[in-house]
Amino acid sequence: MADLDYNDKSRRQFLKSAVLSGVGLAAGRIDALSAPANAPLTLVEKGKSTYTICLSEAASPSEKHAAEELQRFLEEMSGARLPIASDAEKPAGDLILLGKSVLVEQLDPRIPYSRLGAEGFVLKTSGKQLLIVGGAQRGTLYGVYTFLDKLGCRWFTPEVSVIPKKPTLTVAPLDEMQKPAFEYREPFFREASDRDWAARNRVNGASMALDESTGGKFVYYPFVHSAYLILPPEKYFKDHPEYYALVDGKRRSERAQLCLTNPNVLRLTIQTVLGWMEQHPEASIYSVSQNDCEGWCECENCLRVEQEEGGAHSGPFLRFVNAVAAEVGKKHPDKLIDTLAYWYTEPPPLHARPLPNVRIRLCPIGVCEAHPYENCKDDAYFMNHLRAWSKITNQLYIWHYVTNFSHYLLPFPDFDELAADIPMYRKNGVVGIFLEGDFAEGGGGENAELRSYVMARLLWNPSVDVNKTVNEFLAAYYGKAAPPMRSYFDLLERQVRLAPPGKGQSMWIYSSPGSSYLSEEFLAQSEKLFQEAEMAAADQATKARVAKARLSITYVKLMHSKAFEVRAESYAPADLGRLQENFRSFMSDVRSFAITQLHEGVPLTVDEENFSRLMKPYRVATIENAELRVHVAAELSGRVIRIISKKSGKDLLHHSDPGERLYPDVGGLSVAAYSDYLAARPYDVKWELEPPSGRGALHLRGSFSNGLKAKRVIRLAKQGPIVTTEITLENGGDSALDVVLQSRWVVGSKSLEGAVLSLRQPNGKNVEQKLIEPGQEPRGSQVYDGAAQPDGEWVLSGAGTDEALVNRFPKEQVSRCFAQWQGKTENAVTMGLWSAKRTLAPGETLKLEADYGVHTPK
Ligand SMILES: [Zn+2]
Ligand SMILES: [Zn+2]
Repeated sequence: MADLDYNDKSRRQFLKSAVLSGVGLAAGRIDALSAPANAPLTLVEKGKSTYTICLSEAASPSEKHAAEELQRFLEEMSGARLPIASDAEKPAGDLILLGKSVLVEQLDPRIPYSRLGAEGFVLKTSGKQLLIVGGAQRGTLYGVYTFLDKLGCRWFTPEVSVIPKKPTLTVAPLDEMQKPAFEYREPFFREASDRDWAARNRVNGASMALDESTGGKFVYYPFVHSAYLILPPEKYFKDHPEYYALVDGKRRSERAQLCLTNPNVLRLTIQTVLGWMEQHPEASIYSVSQNDCEGWCECENCLRVEQEEGGAHSGPFLRFVNAVAAEVGKKHPDKLIDTLAYWYTEPPPLHARPLPNVRIRLCPIGVCEAHPYENCKDDAYFMNHLRAWSKITNQLYIWHYVTNFSHYLLPFPDFDELAADIPMYRKNGVVGIFLEGDFAEGGGGENAELRSYVMARLLWNPSVDVNKTVNEFLAAYYGKAAPPMRSYFDLLERQVRLAPPGKGQSMWIYSSPGSSYLSEEFLAQSEKLFQEAEMAAADQATKARVAKARLSITYVKLMHSKAFEVRAESYAPADLGRLQENFRSFMSDVRSFAITQLHEGVPLTVDEENFSRLMKPYRVATIENAELRVHVAAELSGRVIRIISKKSGKDLLHHSDPGERLYPDVGGLSVAAYSDYLAARPYDVKWELEPPSGRGALHLRGSFSNGLKAKRVIRLAKQGPIVTTEITLENGGDSALDVVLQSRWVVGSKSLEGAVLSLRQPNGKNVEQKLIEPGQEPRGSQVYDGAAQPDGEWVLSGAGTDEALVNRFPKEQVSRCFAQWQGKTENAVTMGLWSAKRTLAPGETLKLEADYGVHTPK
């Protein structure tokens, strides 16, 4: 941003000093004296130039590169190739002075280098001289690109630039200083990683191919989630389980964290970080951060620190990170320590304050991305966290999300949000921003090119006109197809823009293809605009760009068409043959654009395997009574897939989005056996339906790969809208196995506003828990055990169904209950039961019974 302060105070003094110091200039002709101070410069006239680009003999690699870039683009624009000389050669004639040099010192000794830092610069005309002078690392280079930008040059993508043709190039008088709004600027898209694109758009992120010639970059080591890099469990866990988090009564080295109050953990961390600093001196920031999961330590000391810090899980973390930073800072005062405020550590601690060499990366992972955070009720919780952190540190970084990580191609209308929130971050004292998108090999995330470009402009100058920036990009990128592409852009933004004038729909980074902003009407209108754009596209390259953008709409339609239906004895998509054909053709298009991932971390081959394994008809068994009709697909993990209330005609079960990767083997009413409450995956099992043994009951047989065997009975109560389930597990192997059984159902449909879980605790106390609270993120989870456990029954009401839903169980069989809910795009509530955990000797059995249905008050 233009530094007005500098301009206002020093403009007159600068001109005066330039004139005075110019007297001593050694370079022959002193144009500062002979030309009027505010006349435009003519750099090139009809393809001829009198100018020389002049550098210090001691110019940095990026300043030398800056000179070549300036030479190259001025020639592209005007046809004139300006010579490059060093100040030691004492070039005569008109000069473009790049970077700090003897000549610049003589011409203007007042340039505030210390304020420019590594990336700031000054652009000035002085008589007939032009000065582009900035920090040696990247400042002068950025000055050159900013100057070329003023002449109309744009680098939209690595392939698409606009370099205007101007055989005569004049420059209006200049006197300004610029510095980036944020010290760290990283749009994290494959499309943004190109060296030249990144340098020309003045971003400096760790993922970019920036090298010495472009002034390097902001280097992290390691980048994030470093807990187990610091203390690898394979090295320490066996002898020192106490270094690792105590979770649910057990020290754990999988999907958990470290014990942050253990003094040896601190000692070893300091040792490790000092080692990193020796081995990776190129890095300026070292990450001491939580793993990408929950599992914080519940040992007595860690809990005590949490309590002292107002109950914040960030308390133990920040105290630990500060202790590391204090110690390593003694030896490396110029290095920074990074940590996260993420997920369970998002709310700040009560007392601990980040040391000056600590950078907190605050991650708004749970926010609605459709609306400016300050205007969206679902984001109020995050704004509270941001304001609280910005009160206790003036070195805050943000890890912002700019794609849908479950569906990289899903339309992601967050441009209103970005245009508002990057300035909002700046206002809240944020100094660095990482914008996480699709960085998979080959890229291809929705709108990645436009998005990267707009983000880079905003990160340099948050007050840039986003609307104009989008138009410039679209005009260059789509040519004659730009008007319909702009209409598509507006149509998409209007789906979410707050009403009026928009439709006010919400969007999250894991939103599903079934989200309401991706309505059939929107898809139909989009198709029309894409047809128009394809017709208008003037050449093959543009046609390909339109076709690539259109993949997003094709993807959404494809996901919608995966929806399964029950028809007679079959559960299948409406038109399986056509779906298979469309899928093949879609995947071939995806590959033709070199896209390698449609979901974070999942190669295309996995999508294809899942598709051919899961997209097929499943046999359905049905039982019914006067109130309910129940459909079971045994091959789908023994799942109950529908519980239809005959009274309302509605399904009690939530219908999972067909875009879920393991769809249709998800949701419903299901059982599973685990080794432990916190195990990542259940034991592998195959279910089969046994021959019918009378109306109103289904018998299933489960065979586990580890030797467990299960019998499951699903029946309808003789009277009333209740499904009764029972599973009996037997250890059919020859060694003992740790086993815990889980039974769950996923319910809810329209909205969770007003949804209430009601339960009576064993002490007789009635609890009514509202799931969605104003000002809070519309999701949550809770475990109910011990004195908080429901006394054999819990009821969910107001979750989009007219009827309240009930789950009953024999309390002696159940050791804890849990609920998970989200009122984002899916509006689903999972109610689950866990049996007691047992070590089953061969031949021993474990049983869990549970009833599910419509609650009929007594
Ligand atoms: Zn601990
Ligand atoms: Zn919102």
